[in-house]
Amino acid sequence: MRLTIISTPIGFLGSGRGGGVELTLNSLVSGLLKQNHSVNVVAPNNSKLSESCSSANLFTVEGYEQYSWQHQNYYSKTEIRDDSIINVMLEKALSFIKDTDAIINLAYDLQPICKTLEVDYPVLHLISMGDESLEISNIISKVYSYYPFNFAFHSKSQAADYPFIKEPIVLGNGFELSKYTFQNRKEGPLAWVGRIAPEKGLEDAAYVANEIGEKLNVWGVIEDQDYASKIIDSYPYGQICWKGYLQTNKLQEELGKCRALINTPKWNEAYGNVVVEAMACGVPVVAYKRGGPGEIIQHGETGFLVKADDKESLVLYLKQINNIKRERCREWVENNASSNIFAEKVVSWIKRVIKEYE
Ligand code: UDP
Repeated sequence: MRLTIISTPIGFLGSGRGGGVELTLNSLVSGLLKQNHSVNVVAPNNSKLSESCSSANLFTVEGYEQYSWQHQNYYSKTEIRDDSIINVMLEKALSFIKDTDAIINLAYDLQPICKTLEVDYPVLHLISMGDESLEISNIISKVYSYYPFNFAFHSKSQAADYPFIKEPIVLGNGFELSKYTFQNRKEGPLAWVGRIAPEKGLEDAAYVANEIGEKLNVWGVIEDQDYASKIIDSYPYGQICWKGYLQTNKLQEELGKCRALINTPKWNEAYGNVVVEAMACGVPVVAYKRGGPGEIIQHGETGFLVKADDKESLVLYLKQINNIKRERCREWVENNASSNIFAEKVVSWIKRVIKEYE
């Protein structure tokens, strides 16, 4: 197939501001190329694809940058300017319609979803978040009533945020396993990885590390400086060690040295890439059973799941983390979430949608 993929308008690919969508896009493109599909990627200016995507055609565009939906009021109506990045990306993607078989949209945004009703051409949406905006939820609901197969989700829990979706197409996510090295060590530090923003709940992981009397190593883009400072300042100097935002090769090297990852989402986590990335390095995860991590982690096998917001249980299970066999974590990723497995699922989804248009 000849496919066009629309990236997130939040940040450029490689900036980290696009969160998990950046990784999803790279691993999807890499998996599609390996299956000999041809791929156009439309993304904001300065974007770079990973090396394994070098035979994709990357088109970068410039435009006005909007706020991420999850950081706005759920009920607010958002004015999207004509020159916003999402509109410019969409126009670019539509210019390929004659030469391509489908558009796959990874942006959580109104315009690409609305476009599904306006063109007689497959525009598919891999929704990257739970229900973060009434306006978006309403437009998904409307378009879904005409084109139910055009929407897919990363996890069942995420799809459940949209109660009108009857039989969700759930694709999980994919990881390029050759990028992650398995490290078999039981003695490392504790890790937390993610965008540093309220929905990610760093404060709970900091509390847990402090209770155990250990430092917490933190990797990720600081999206909300006030929020980050408040947490860091509530603990003695050095207790929370912010290690910056690292590209995957460096991140996985550091992550693999850790004893456990603590994952404490405060929102319905759509998937939880960092959980799988840790597991790919052999690092077990202790997480809240909230959203994707609840479907990824096998309790007692690859980590532990506790009731959402139950910090004390996190502490208890963290003390038992050495009972988890690190090999099992890596195995789970190999068997369930490689970029090849993911690309196969995405390809079947696209083929099914294309049939609807024949
Ligand atoms: N990440 C990274 N370097 C860092 C910290 C995070 O590349 O130093 C990436 C990580 O690999 C993951 C993404 O940031 O792909 C976070 O995705 P996740 O699904 O966990 O959360 P989201 O940001 O999408 O809510």
